[in-house]
Formats: sequence, structure tokens, C-alpha cells
Amino acid sequence: MNTPRSERFNISLTTPAGELTTFVEAPTMLVPIMAIVPLTRRLGEEATALEETQEQEAGRPISCRKGCAACCRMLVPVSPPEAFALKAMVETLPEERRNVLLDKLNQAQVRLEQAGLLARLTAVTEADSPLSDEDMEPLNRAYYALRMACPFLENETCSIYEDRPAACRELLVTTPADLCEDLISNPVRSLPAPVRVGTVLALLWSELTRTPPTLIPLPLALDWAEKHATEGQGVWKGTQLLEQMLEKVWRLLEQEFANREVGRAAPGT
Ligand code: SF4
Repeated sequence: MNTPRSERFNISLTTPAGELTTFVEAPTMLVPIMAIVPLTRRLGEEATALEETQEQEAGRPISCRKGCAACCRMLVPVSPPEAFALKAMVETLPEERRNVLLDKLNQAQVRLEQAGLLARLTAVTEADSPLSDEDMEPLNRAYYALRMACPFLENETCSIYEDRPAACRELLVTTPADLCEDLISNPVRSLPAPVRVGTVLALLWSELTRTPPTLIPLPLALDWAEKHATEGQGVWKGTQLLEQMLEKVWRLLEQEFANREVGRAAPGT
């Protein structure tokens, strides 16, 4: 009897915005790490949708609209599995289109070099331990100060919408779109992301490869994937990847519940 190529799993997650009940089809054979990316992103999007419904019911609908790409000037962190997936996707593009994108990525790196940020961002990707949010803050600010459009942005629209990183999917705001003109100085309220998919995938990759968890700035993602091409050729059983990925999701959800509890207990909140 032939072994089925995939196995269906029913998943139930308790998130801060309610119960998420869904299913995933995990490959039963050996697959590269990027095979787990779409599954993980879908879980993250379904968890975010629960938050979105809760906000809407509280009278705070999402104000993000197609063609509004103010946030596409921010530093986008990409997990290693997503970097491999992005590289694989770019390699499937027609040559002309691929060359345009590679040229824009190159221009972005030149701009970062001129601003004195390229070496600092490269160091982030190769650090022995992950930088905390506080450590990343000055870099995020310096990057955003450049107001450099993402190399994948065309006519204020994402040219890789279906393949965009998890971090781009998770940034949704409920304050008026005008405030996004300055995402740092203005009081922009973003939807809480109950499961940070980039972090889940970075932790999974770290565990599989016994390397420090890392998040890669988007303009450097293809170079990182090229540099780590040998590790990217590794394969794991799809069901094992799913199991390890879900363990990270549960761990982050626990942390998210704890963080929100602390936030509620803090004076003035
Ligand atoms: S990948 Fe797409 S959504 Fe993300 S920052 Fe770039 S253009 Fe914007």
C-alpha cells in the first residue's frame, strides 16, 4: 500500500482573541524547511483574523488599505525559512523580472552602505545571540529614517503579495491611515500579533540547525539564503517540522498571554 503524501491534522489553539480551530495538511515525506512556511503563515493569519474581529467588535476596524504602503519603509525581519522560500520564489521569475528585483535589492544595499547601516545589519544576521527588541530599536529607527521603499514595492503595491514575509502580514493598524506617515512619532496603534510567525520559524530553524535564532533584514535575505545554501538543502519529515513548529507556537502563545496579563496589571493600562 502506498504511503499517503500528506497527513491531515486538526489543530486547536487557545489564543488571546479566542479559540482557533483549523486543520493543516503536513507532508509525510522528507521536505526542505521552506515547506513549512505556508502552513505557519496560514496559522498566523488565522490567529490575526481573530484579533481583527475582536478589534472590529470593539469599534476599532483595521484602517490598512490596498495602495497604502507607508509601512513598506520599515525594516522587515525575515526568518531563515522565509529567506530560503523568498530566494526560491525569485529564482522562478522570468529573467527580466528577476533582474529588475535583484537590481533593486542591490540599490537598497548601496543606500544602506552609504548610510552606514549595511555592516550593522549584516552583523545582526550573524550574531551569536539574537538581539533584543531594545537592541534593535536604534537600527529600526535609523533604517526608517531613510524612508527607503522596500525593493519589492512597485507603484505603492507589494509585487510579491502572496509571498510577502510574515512580518508584513502581521502589521495592521487601527488608527487613521494618515498617522502612518510617521510610524515612529505618531501614536499609531497596531493590532497585537498573537503569534509572531517570523519568530516561530526562526526558533524552528535554530533548533534544527543548532544555530542562534536569527531574523534577517529583508534587503539582505537573498544574500543570506545564498550564503547558507548548503544548510538550506537539508530535508526533514514534514510531520516532524509541523510538530516542532506547533511547539513553538504554543510557547509563544503562552508568552503572549503572560505579556498581556502584565500589561493589564500595569498602572494606567
Ligand atoms: S515585502 Fe511587500 S508588504 Fe512587505 S515591505 Fe516589501 S513591499 Fe511591503
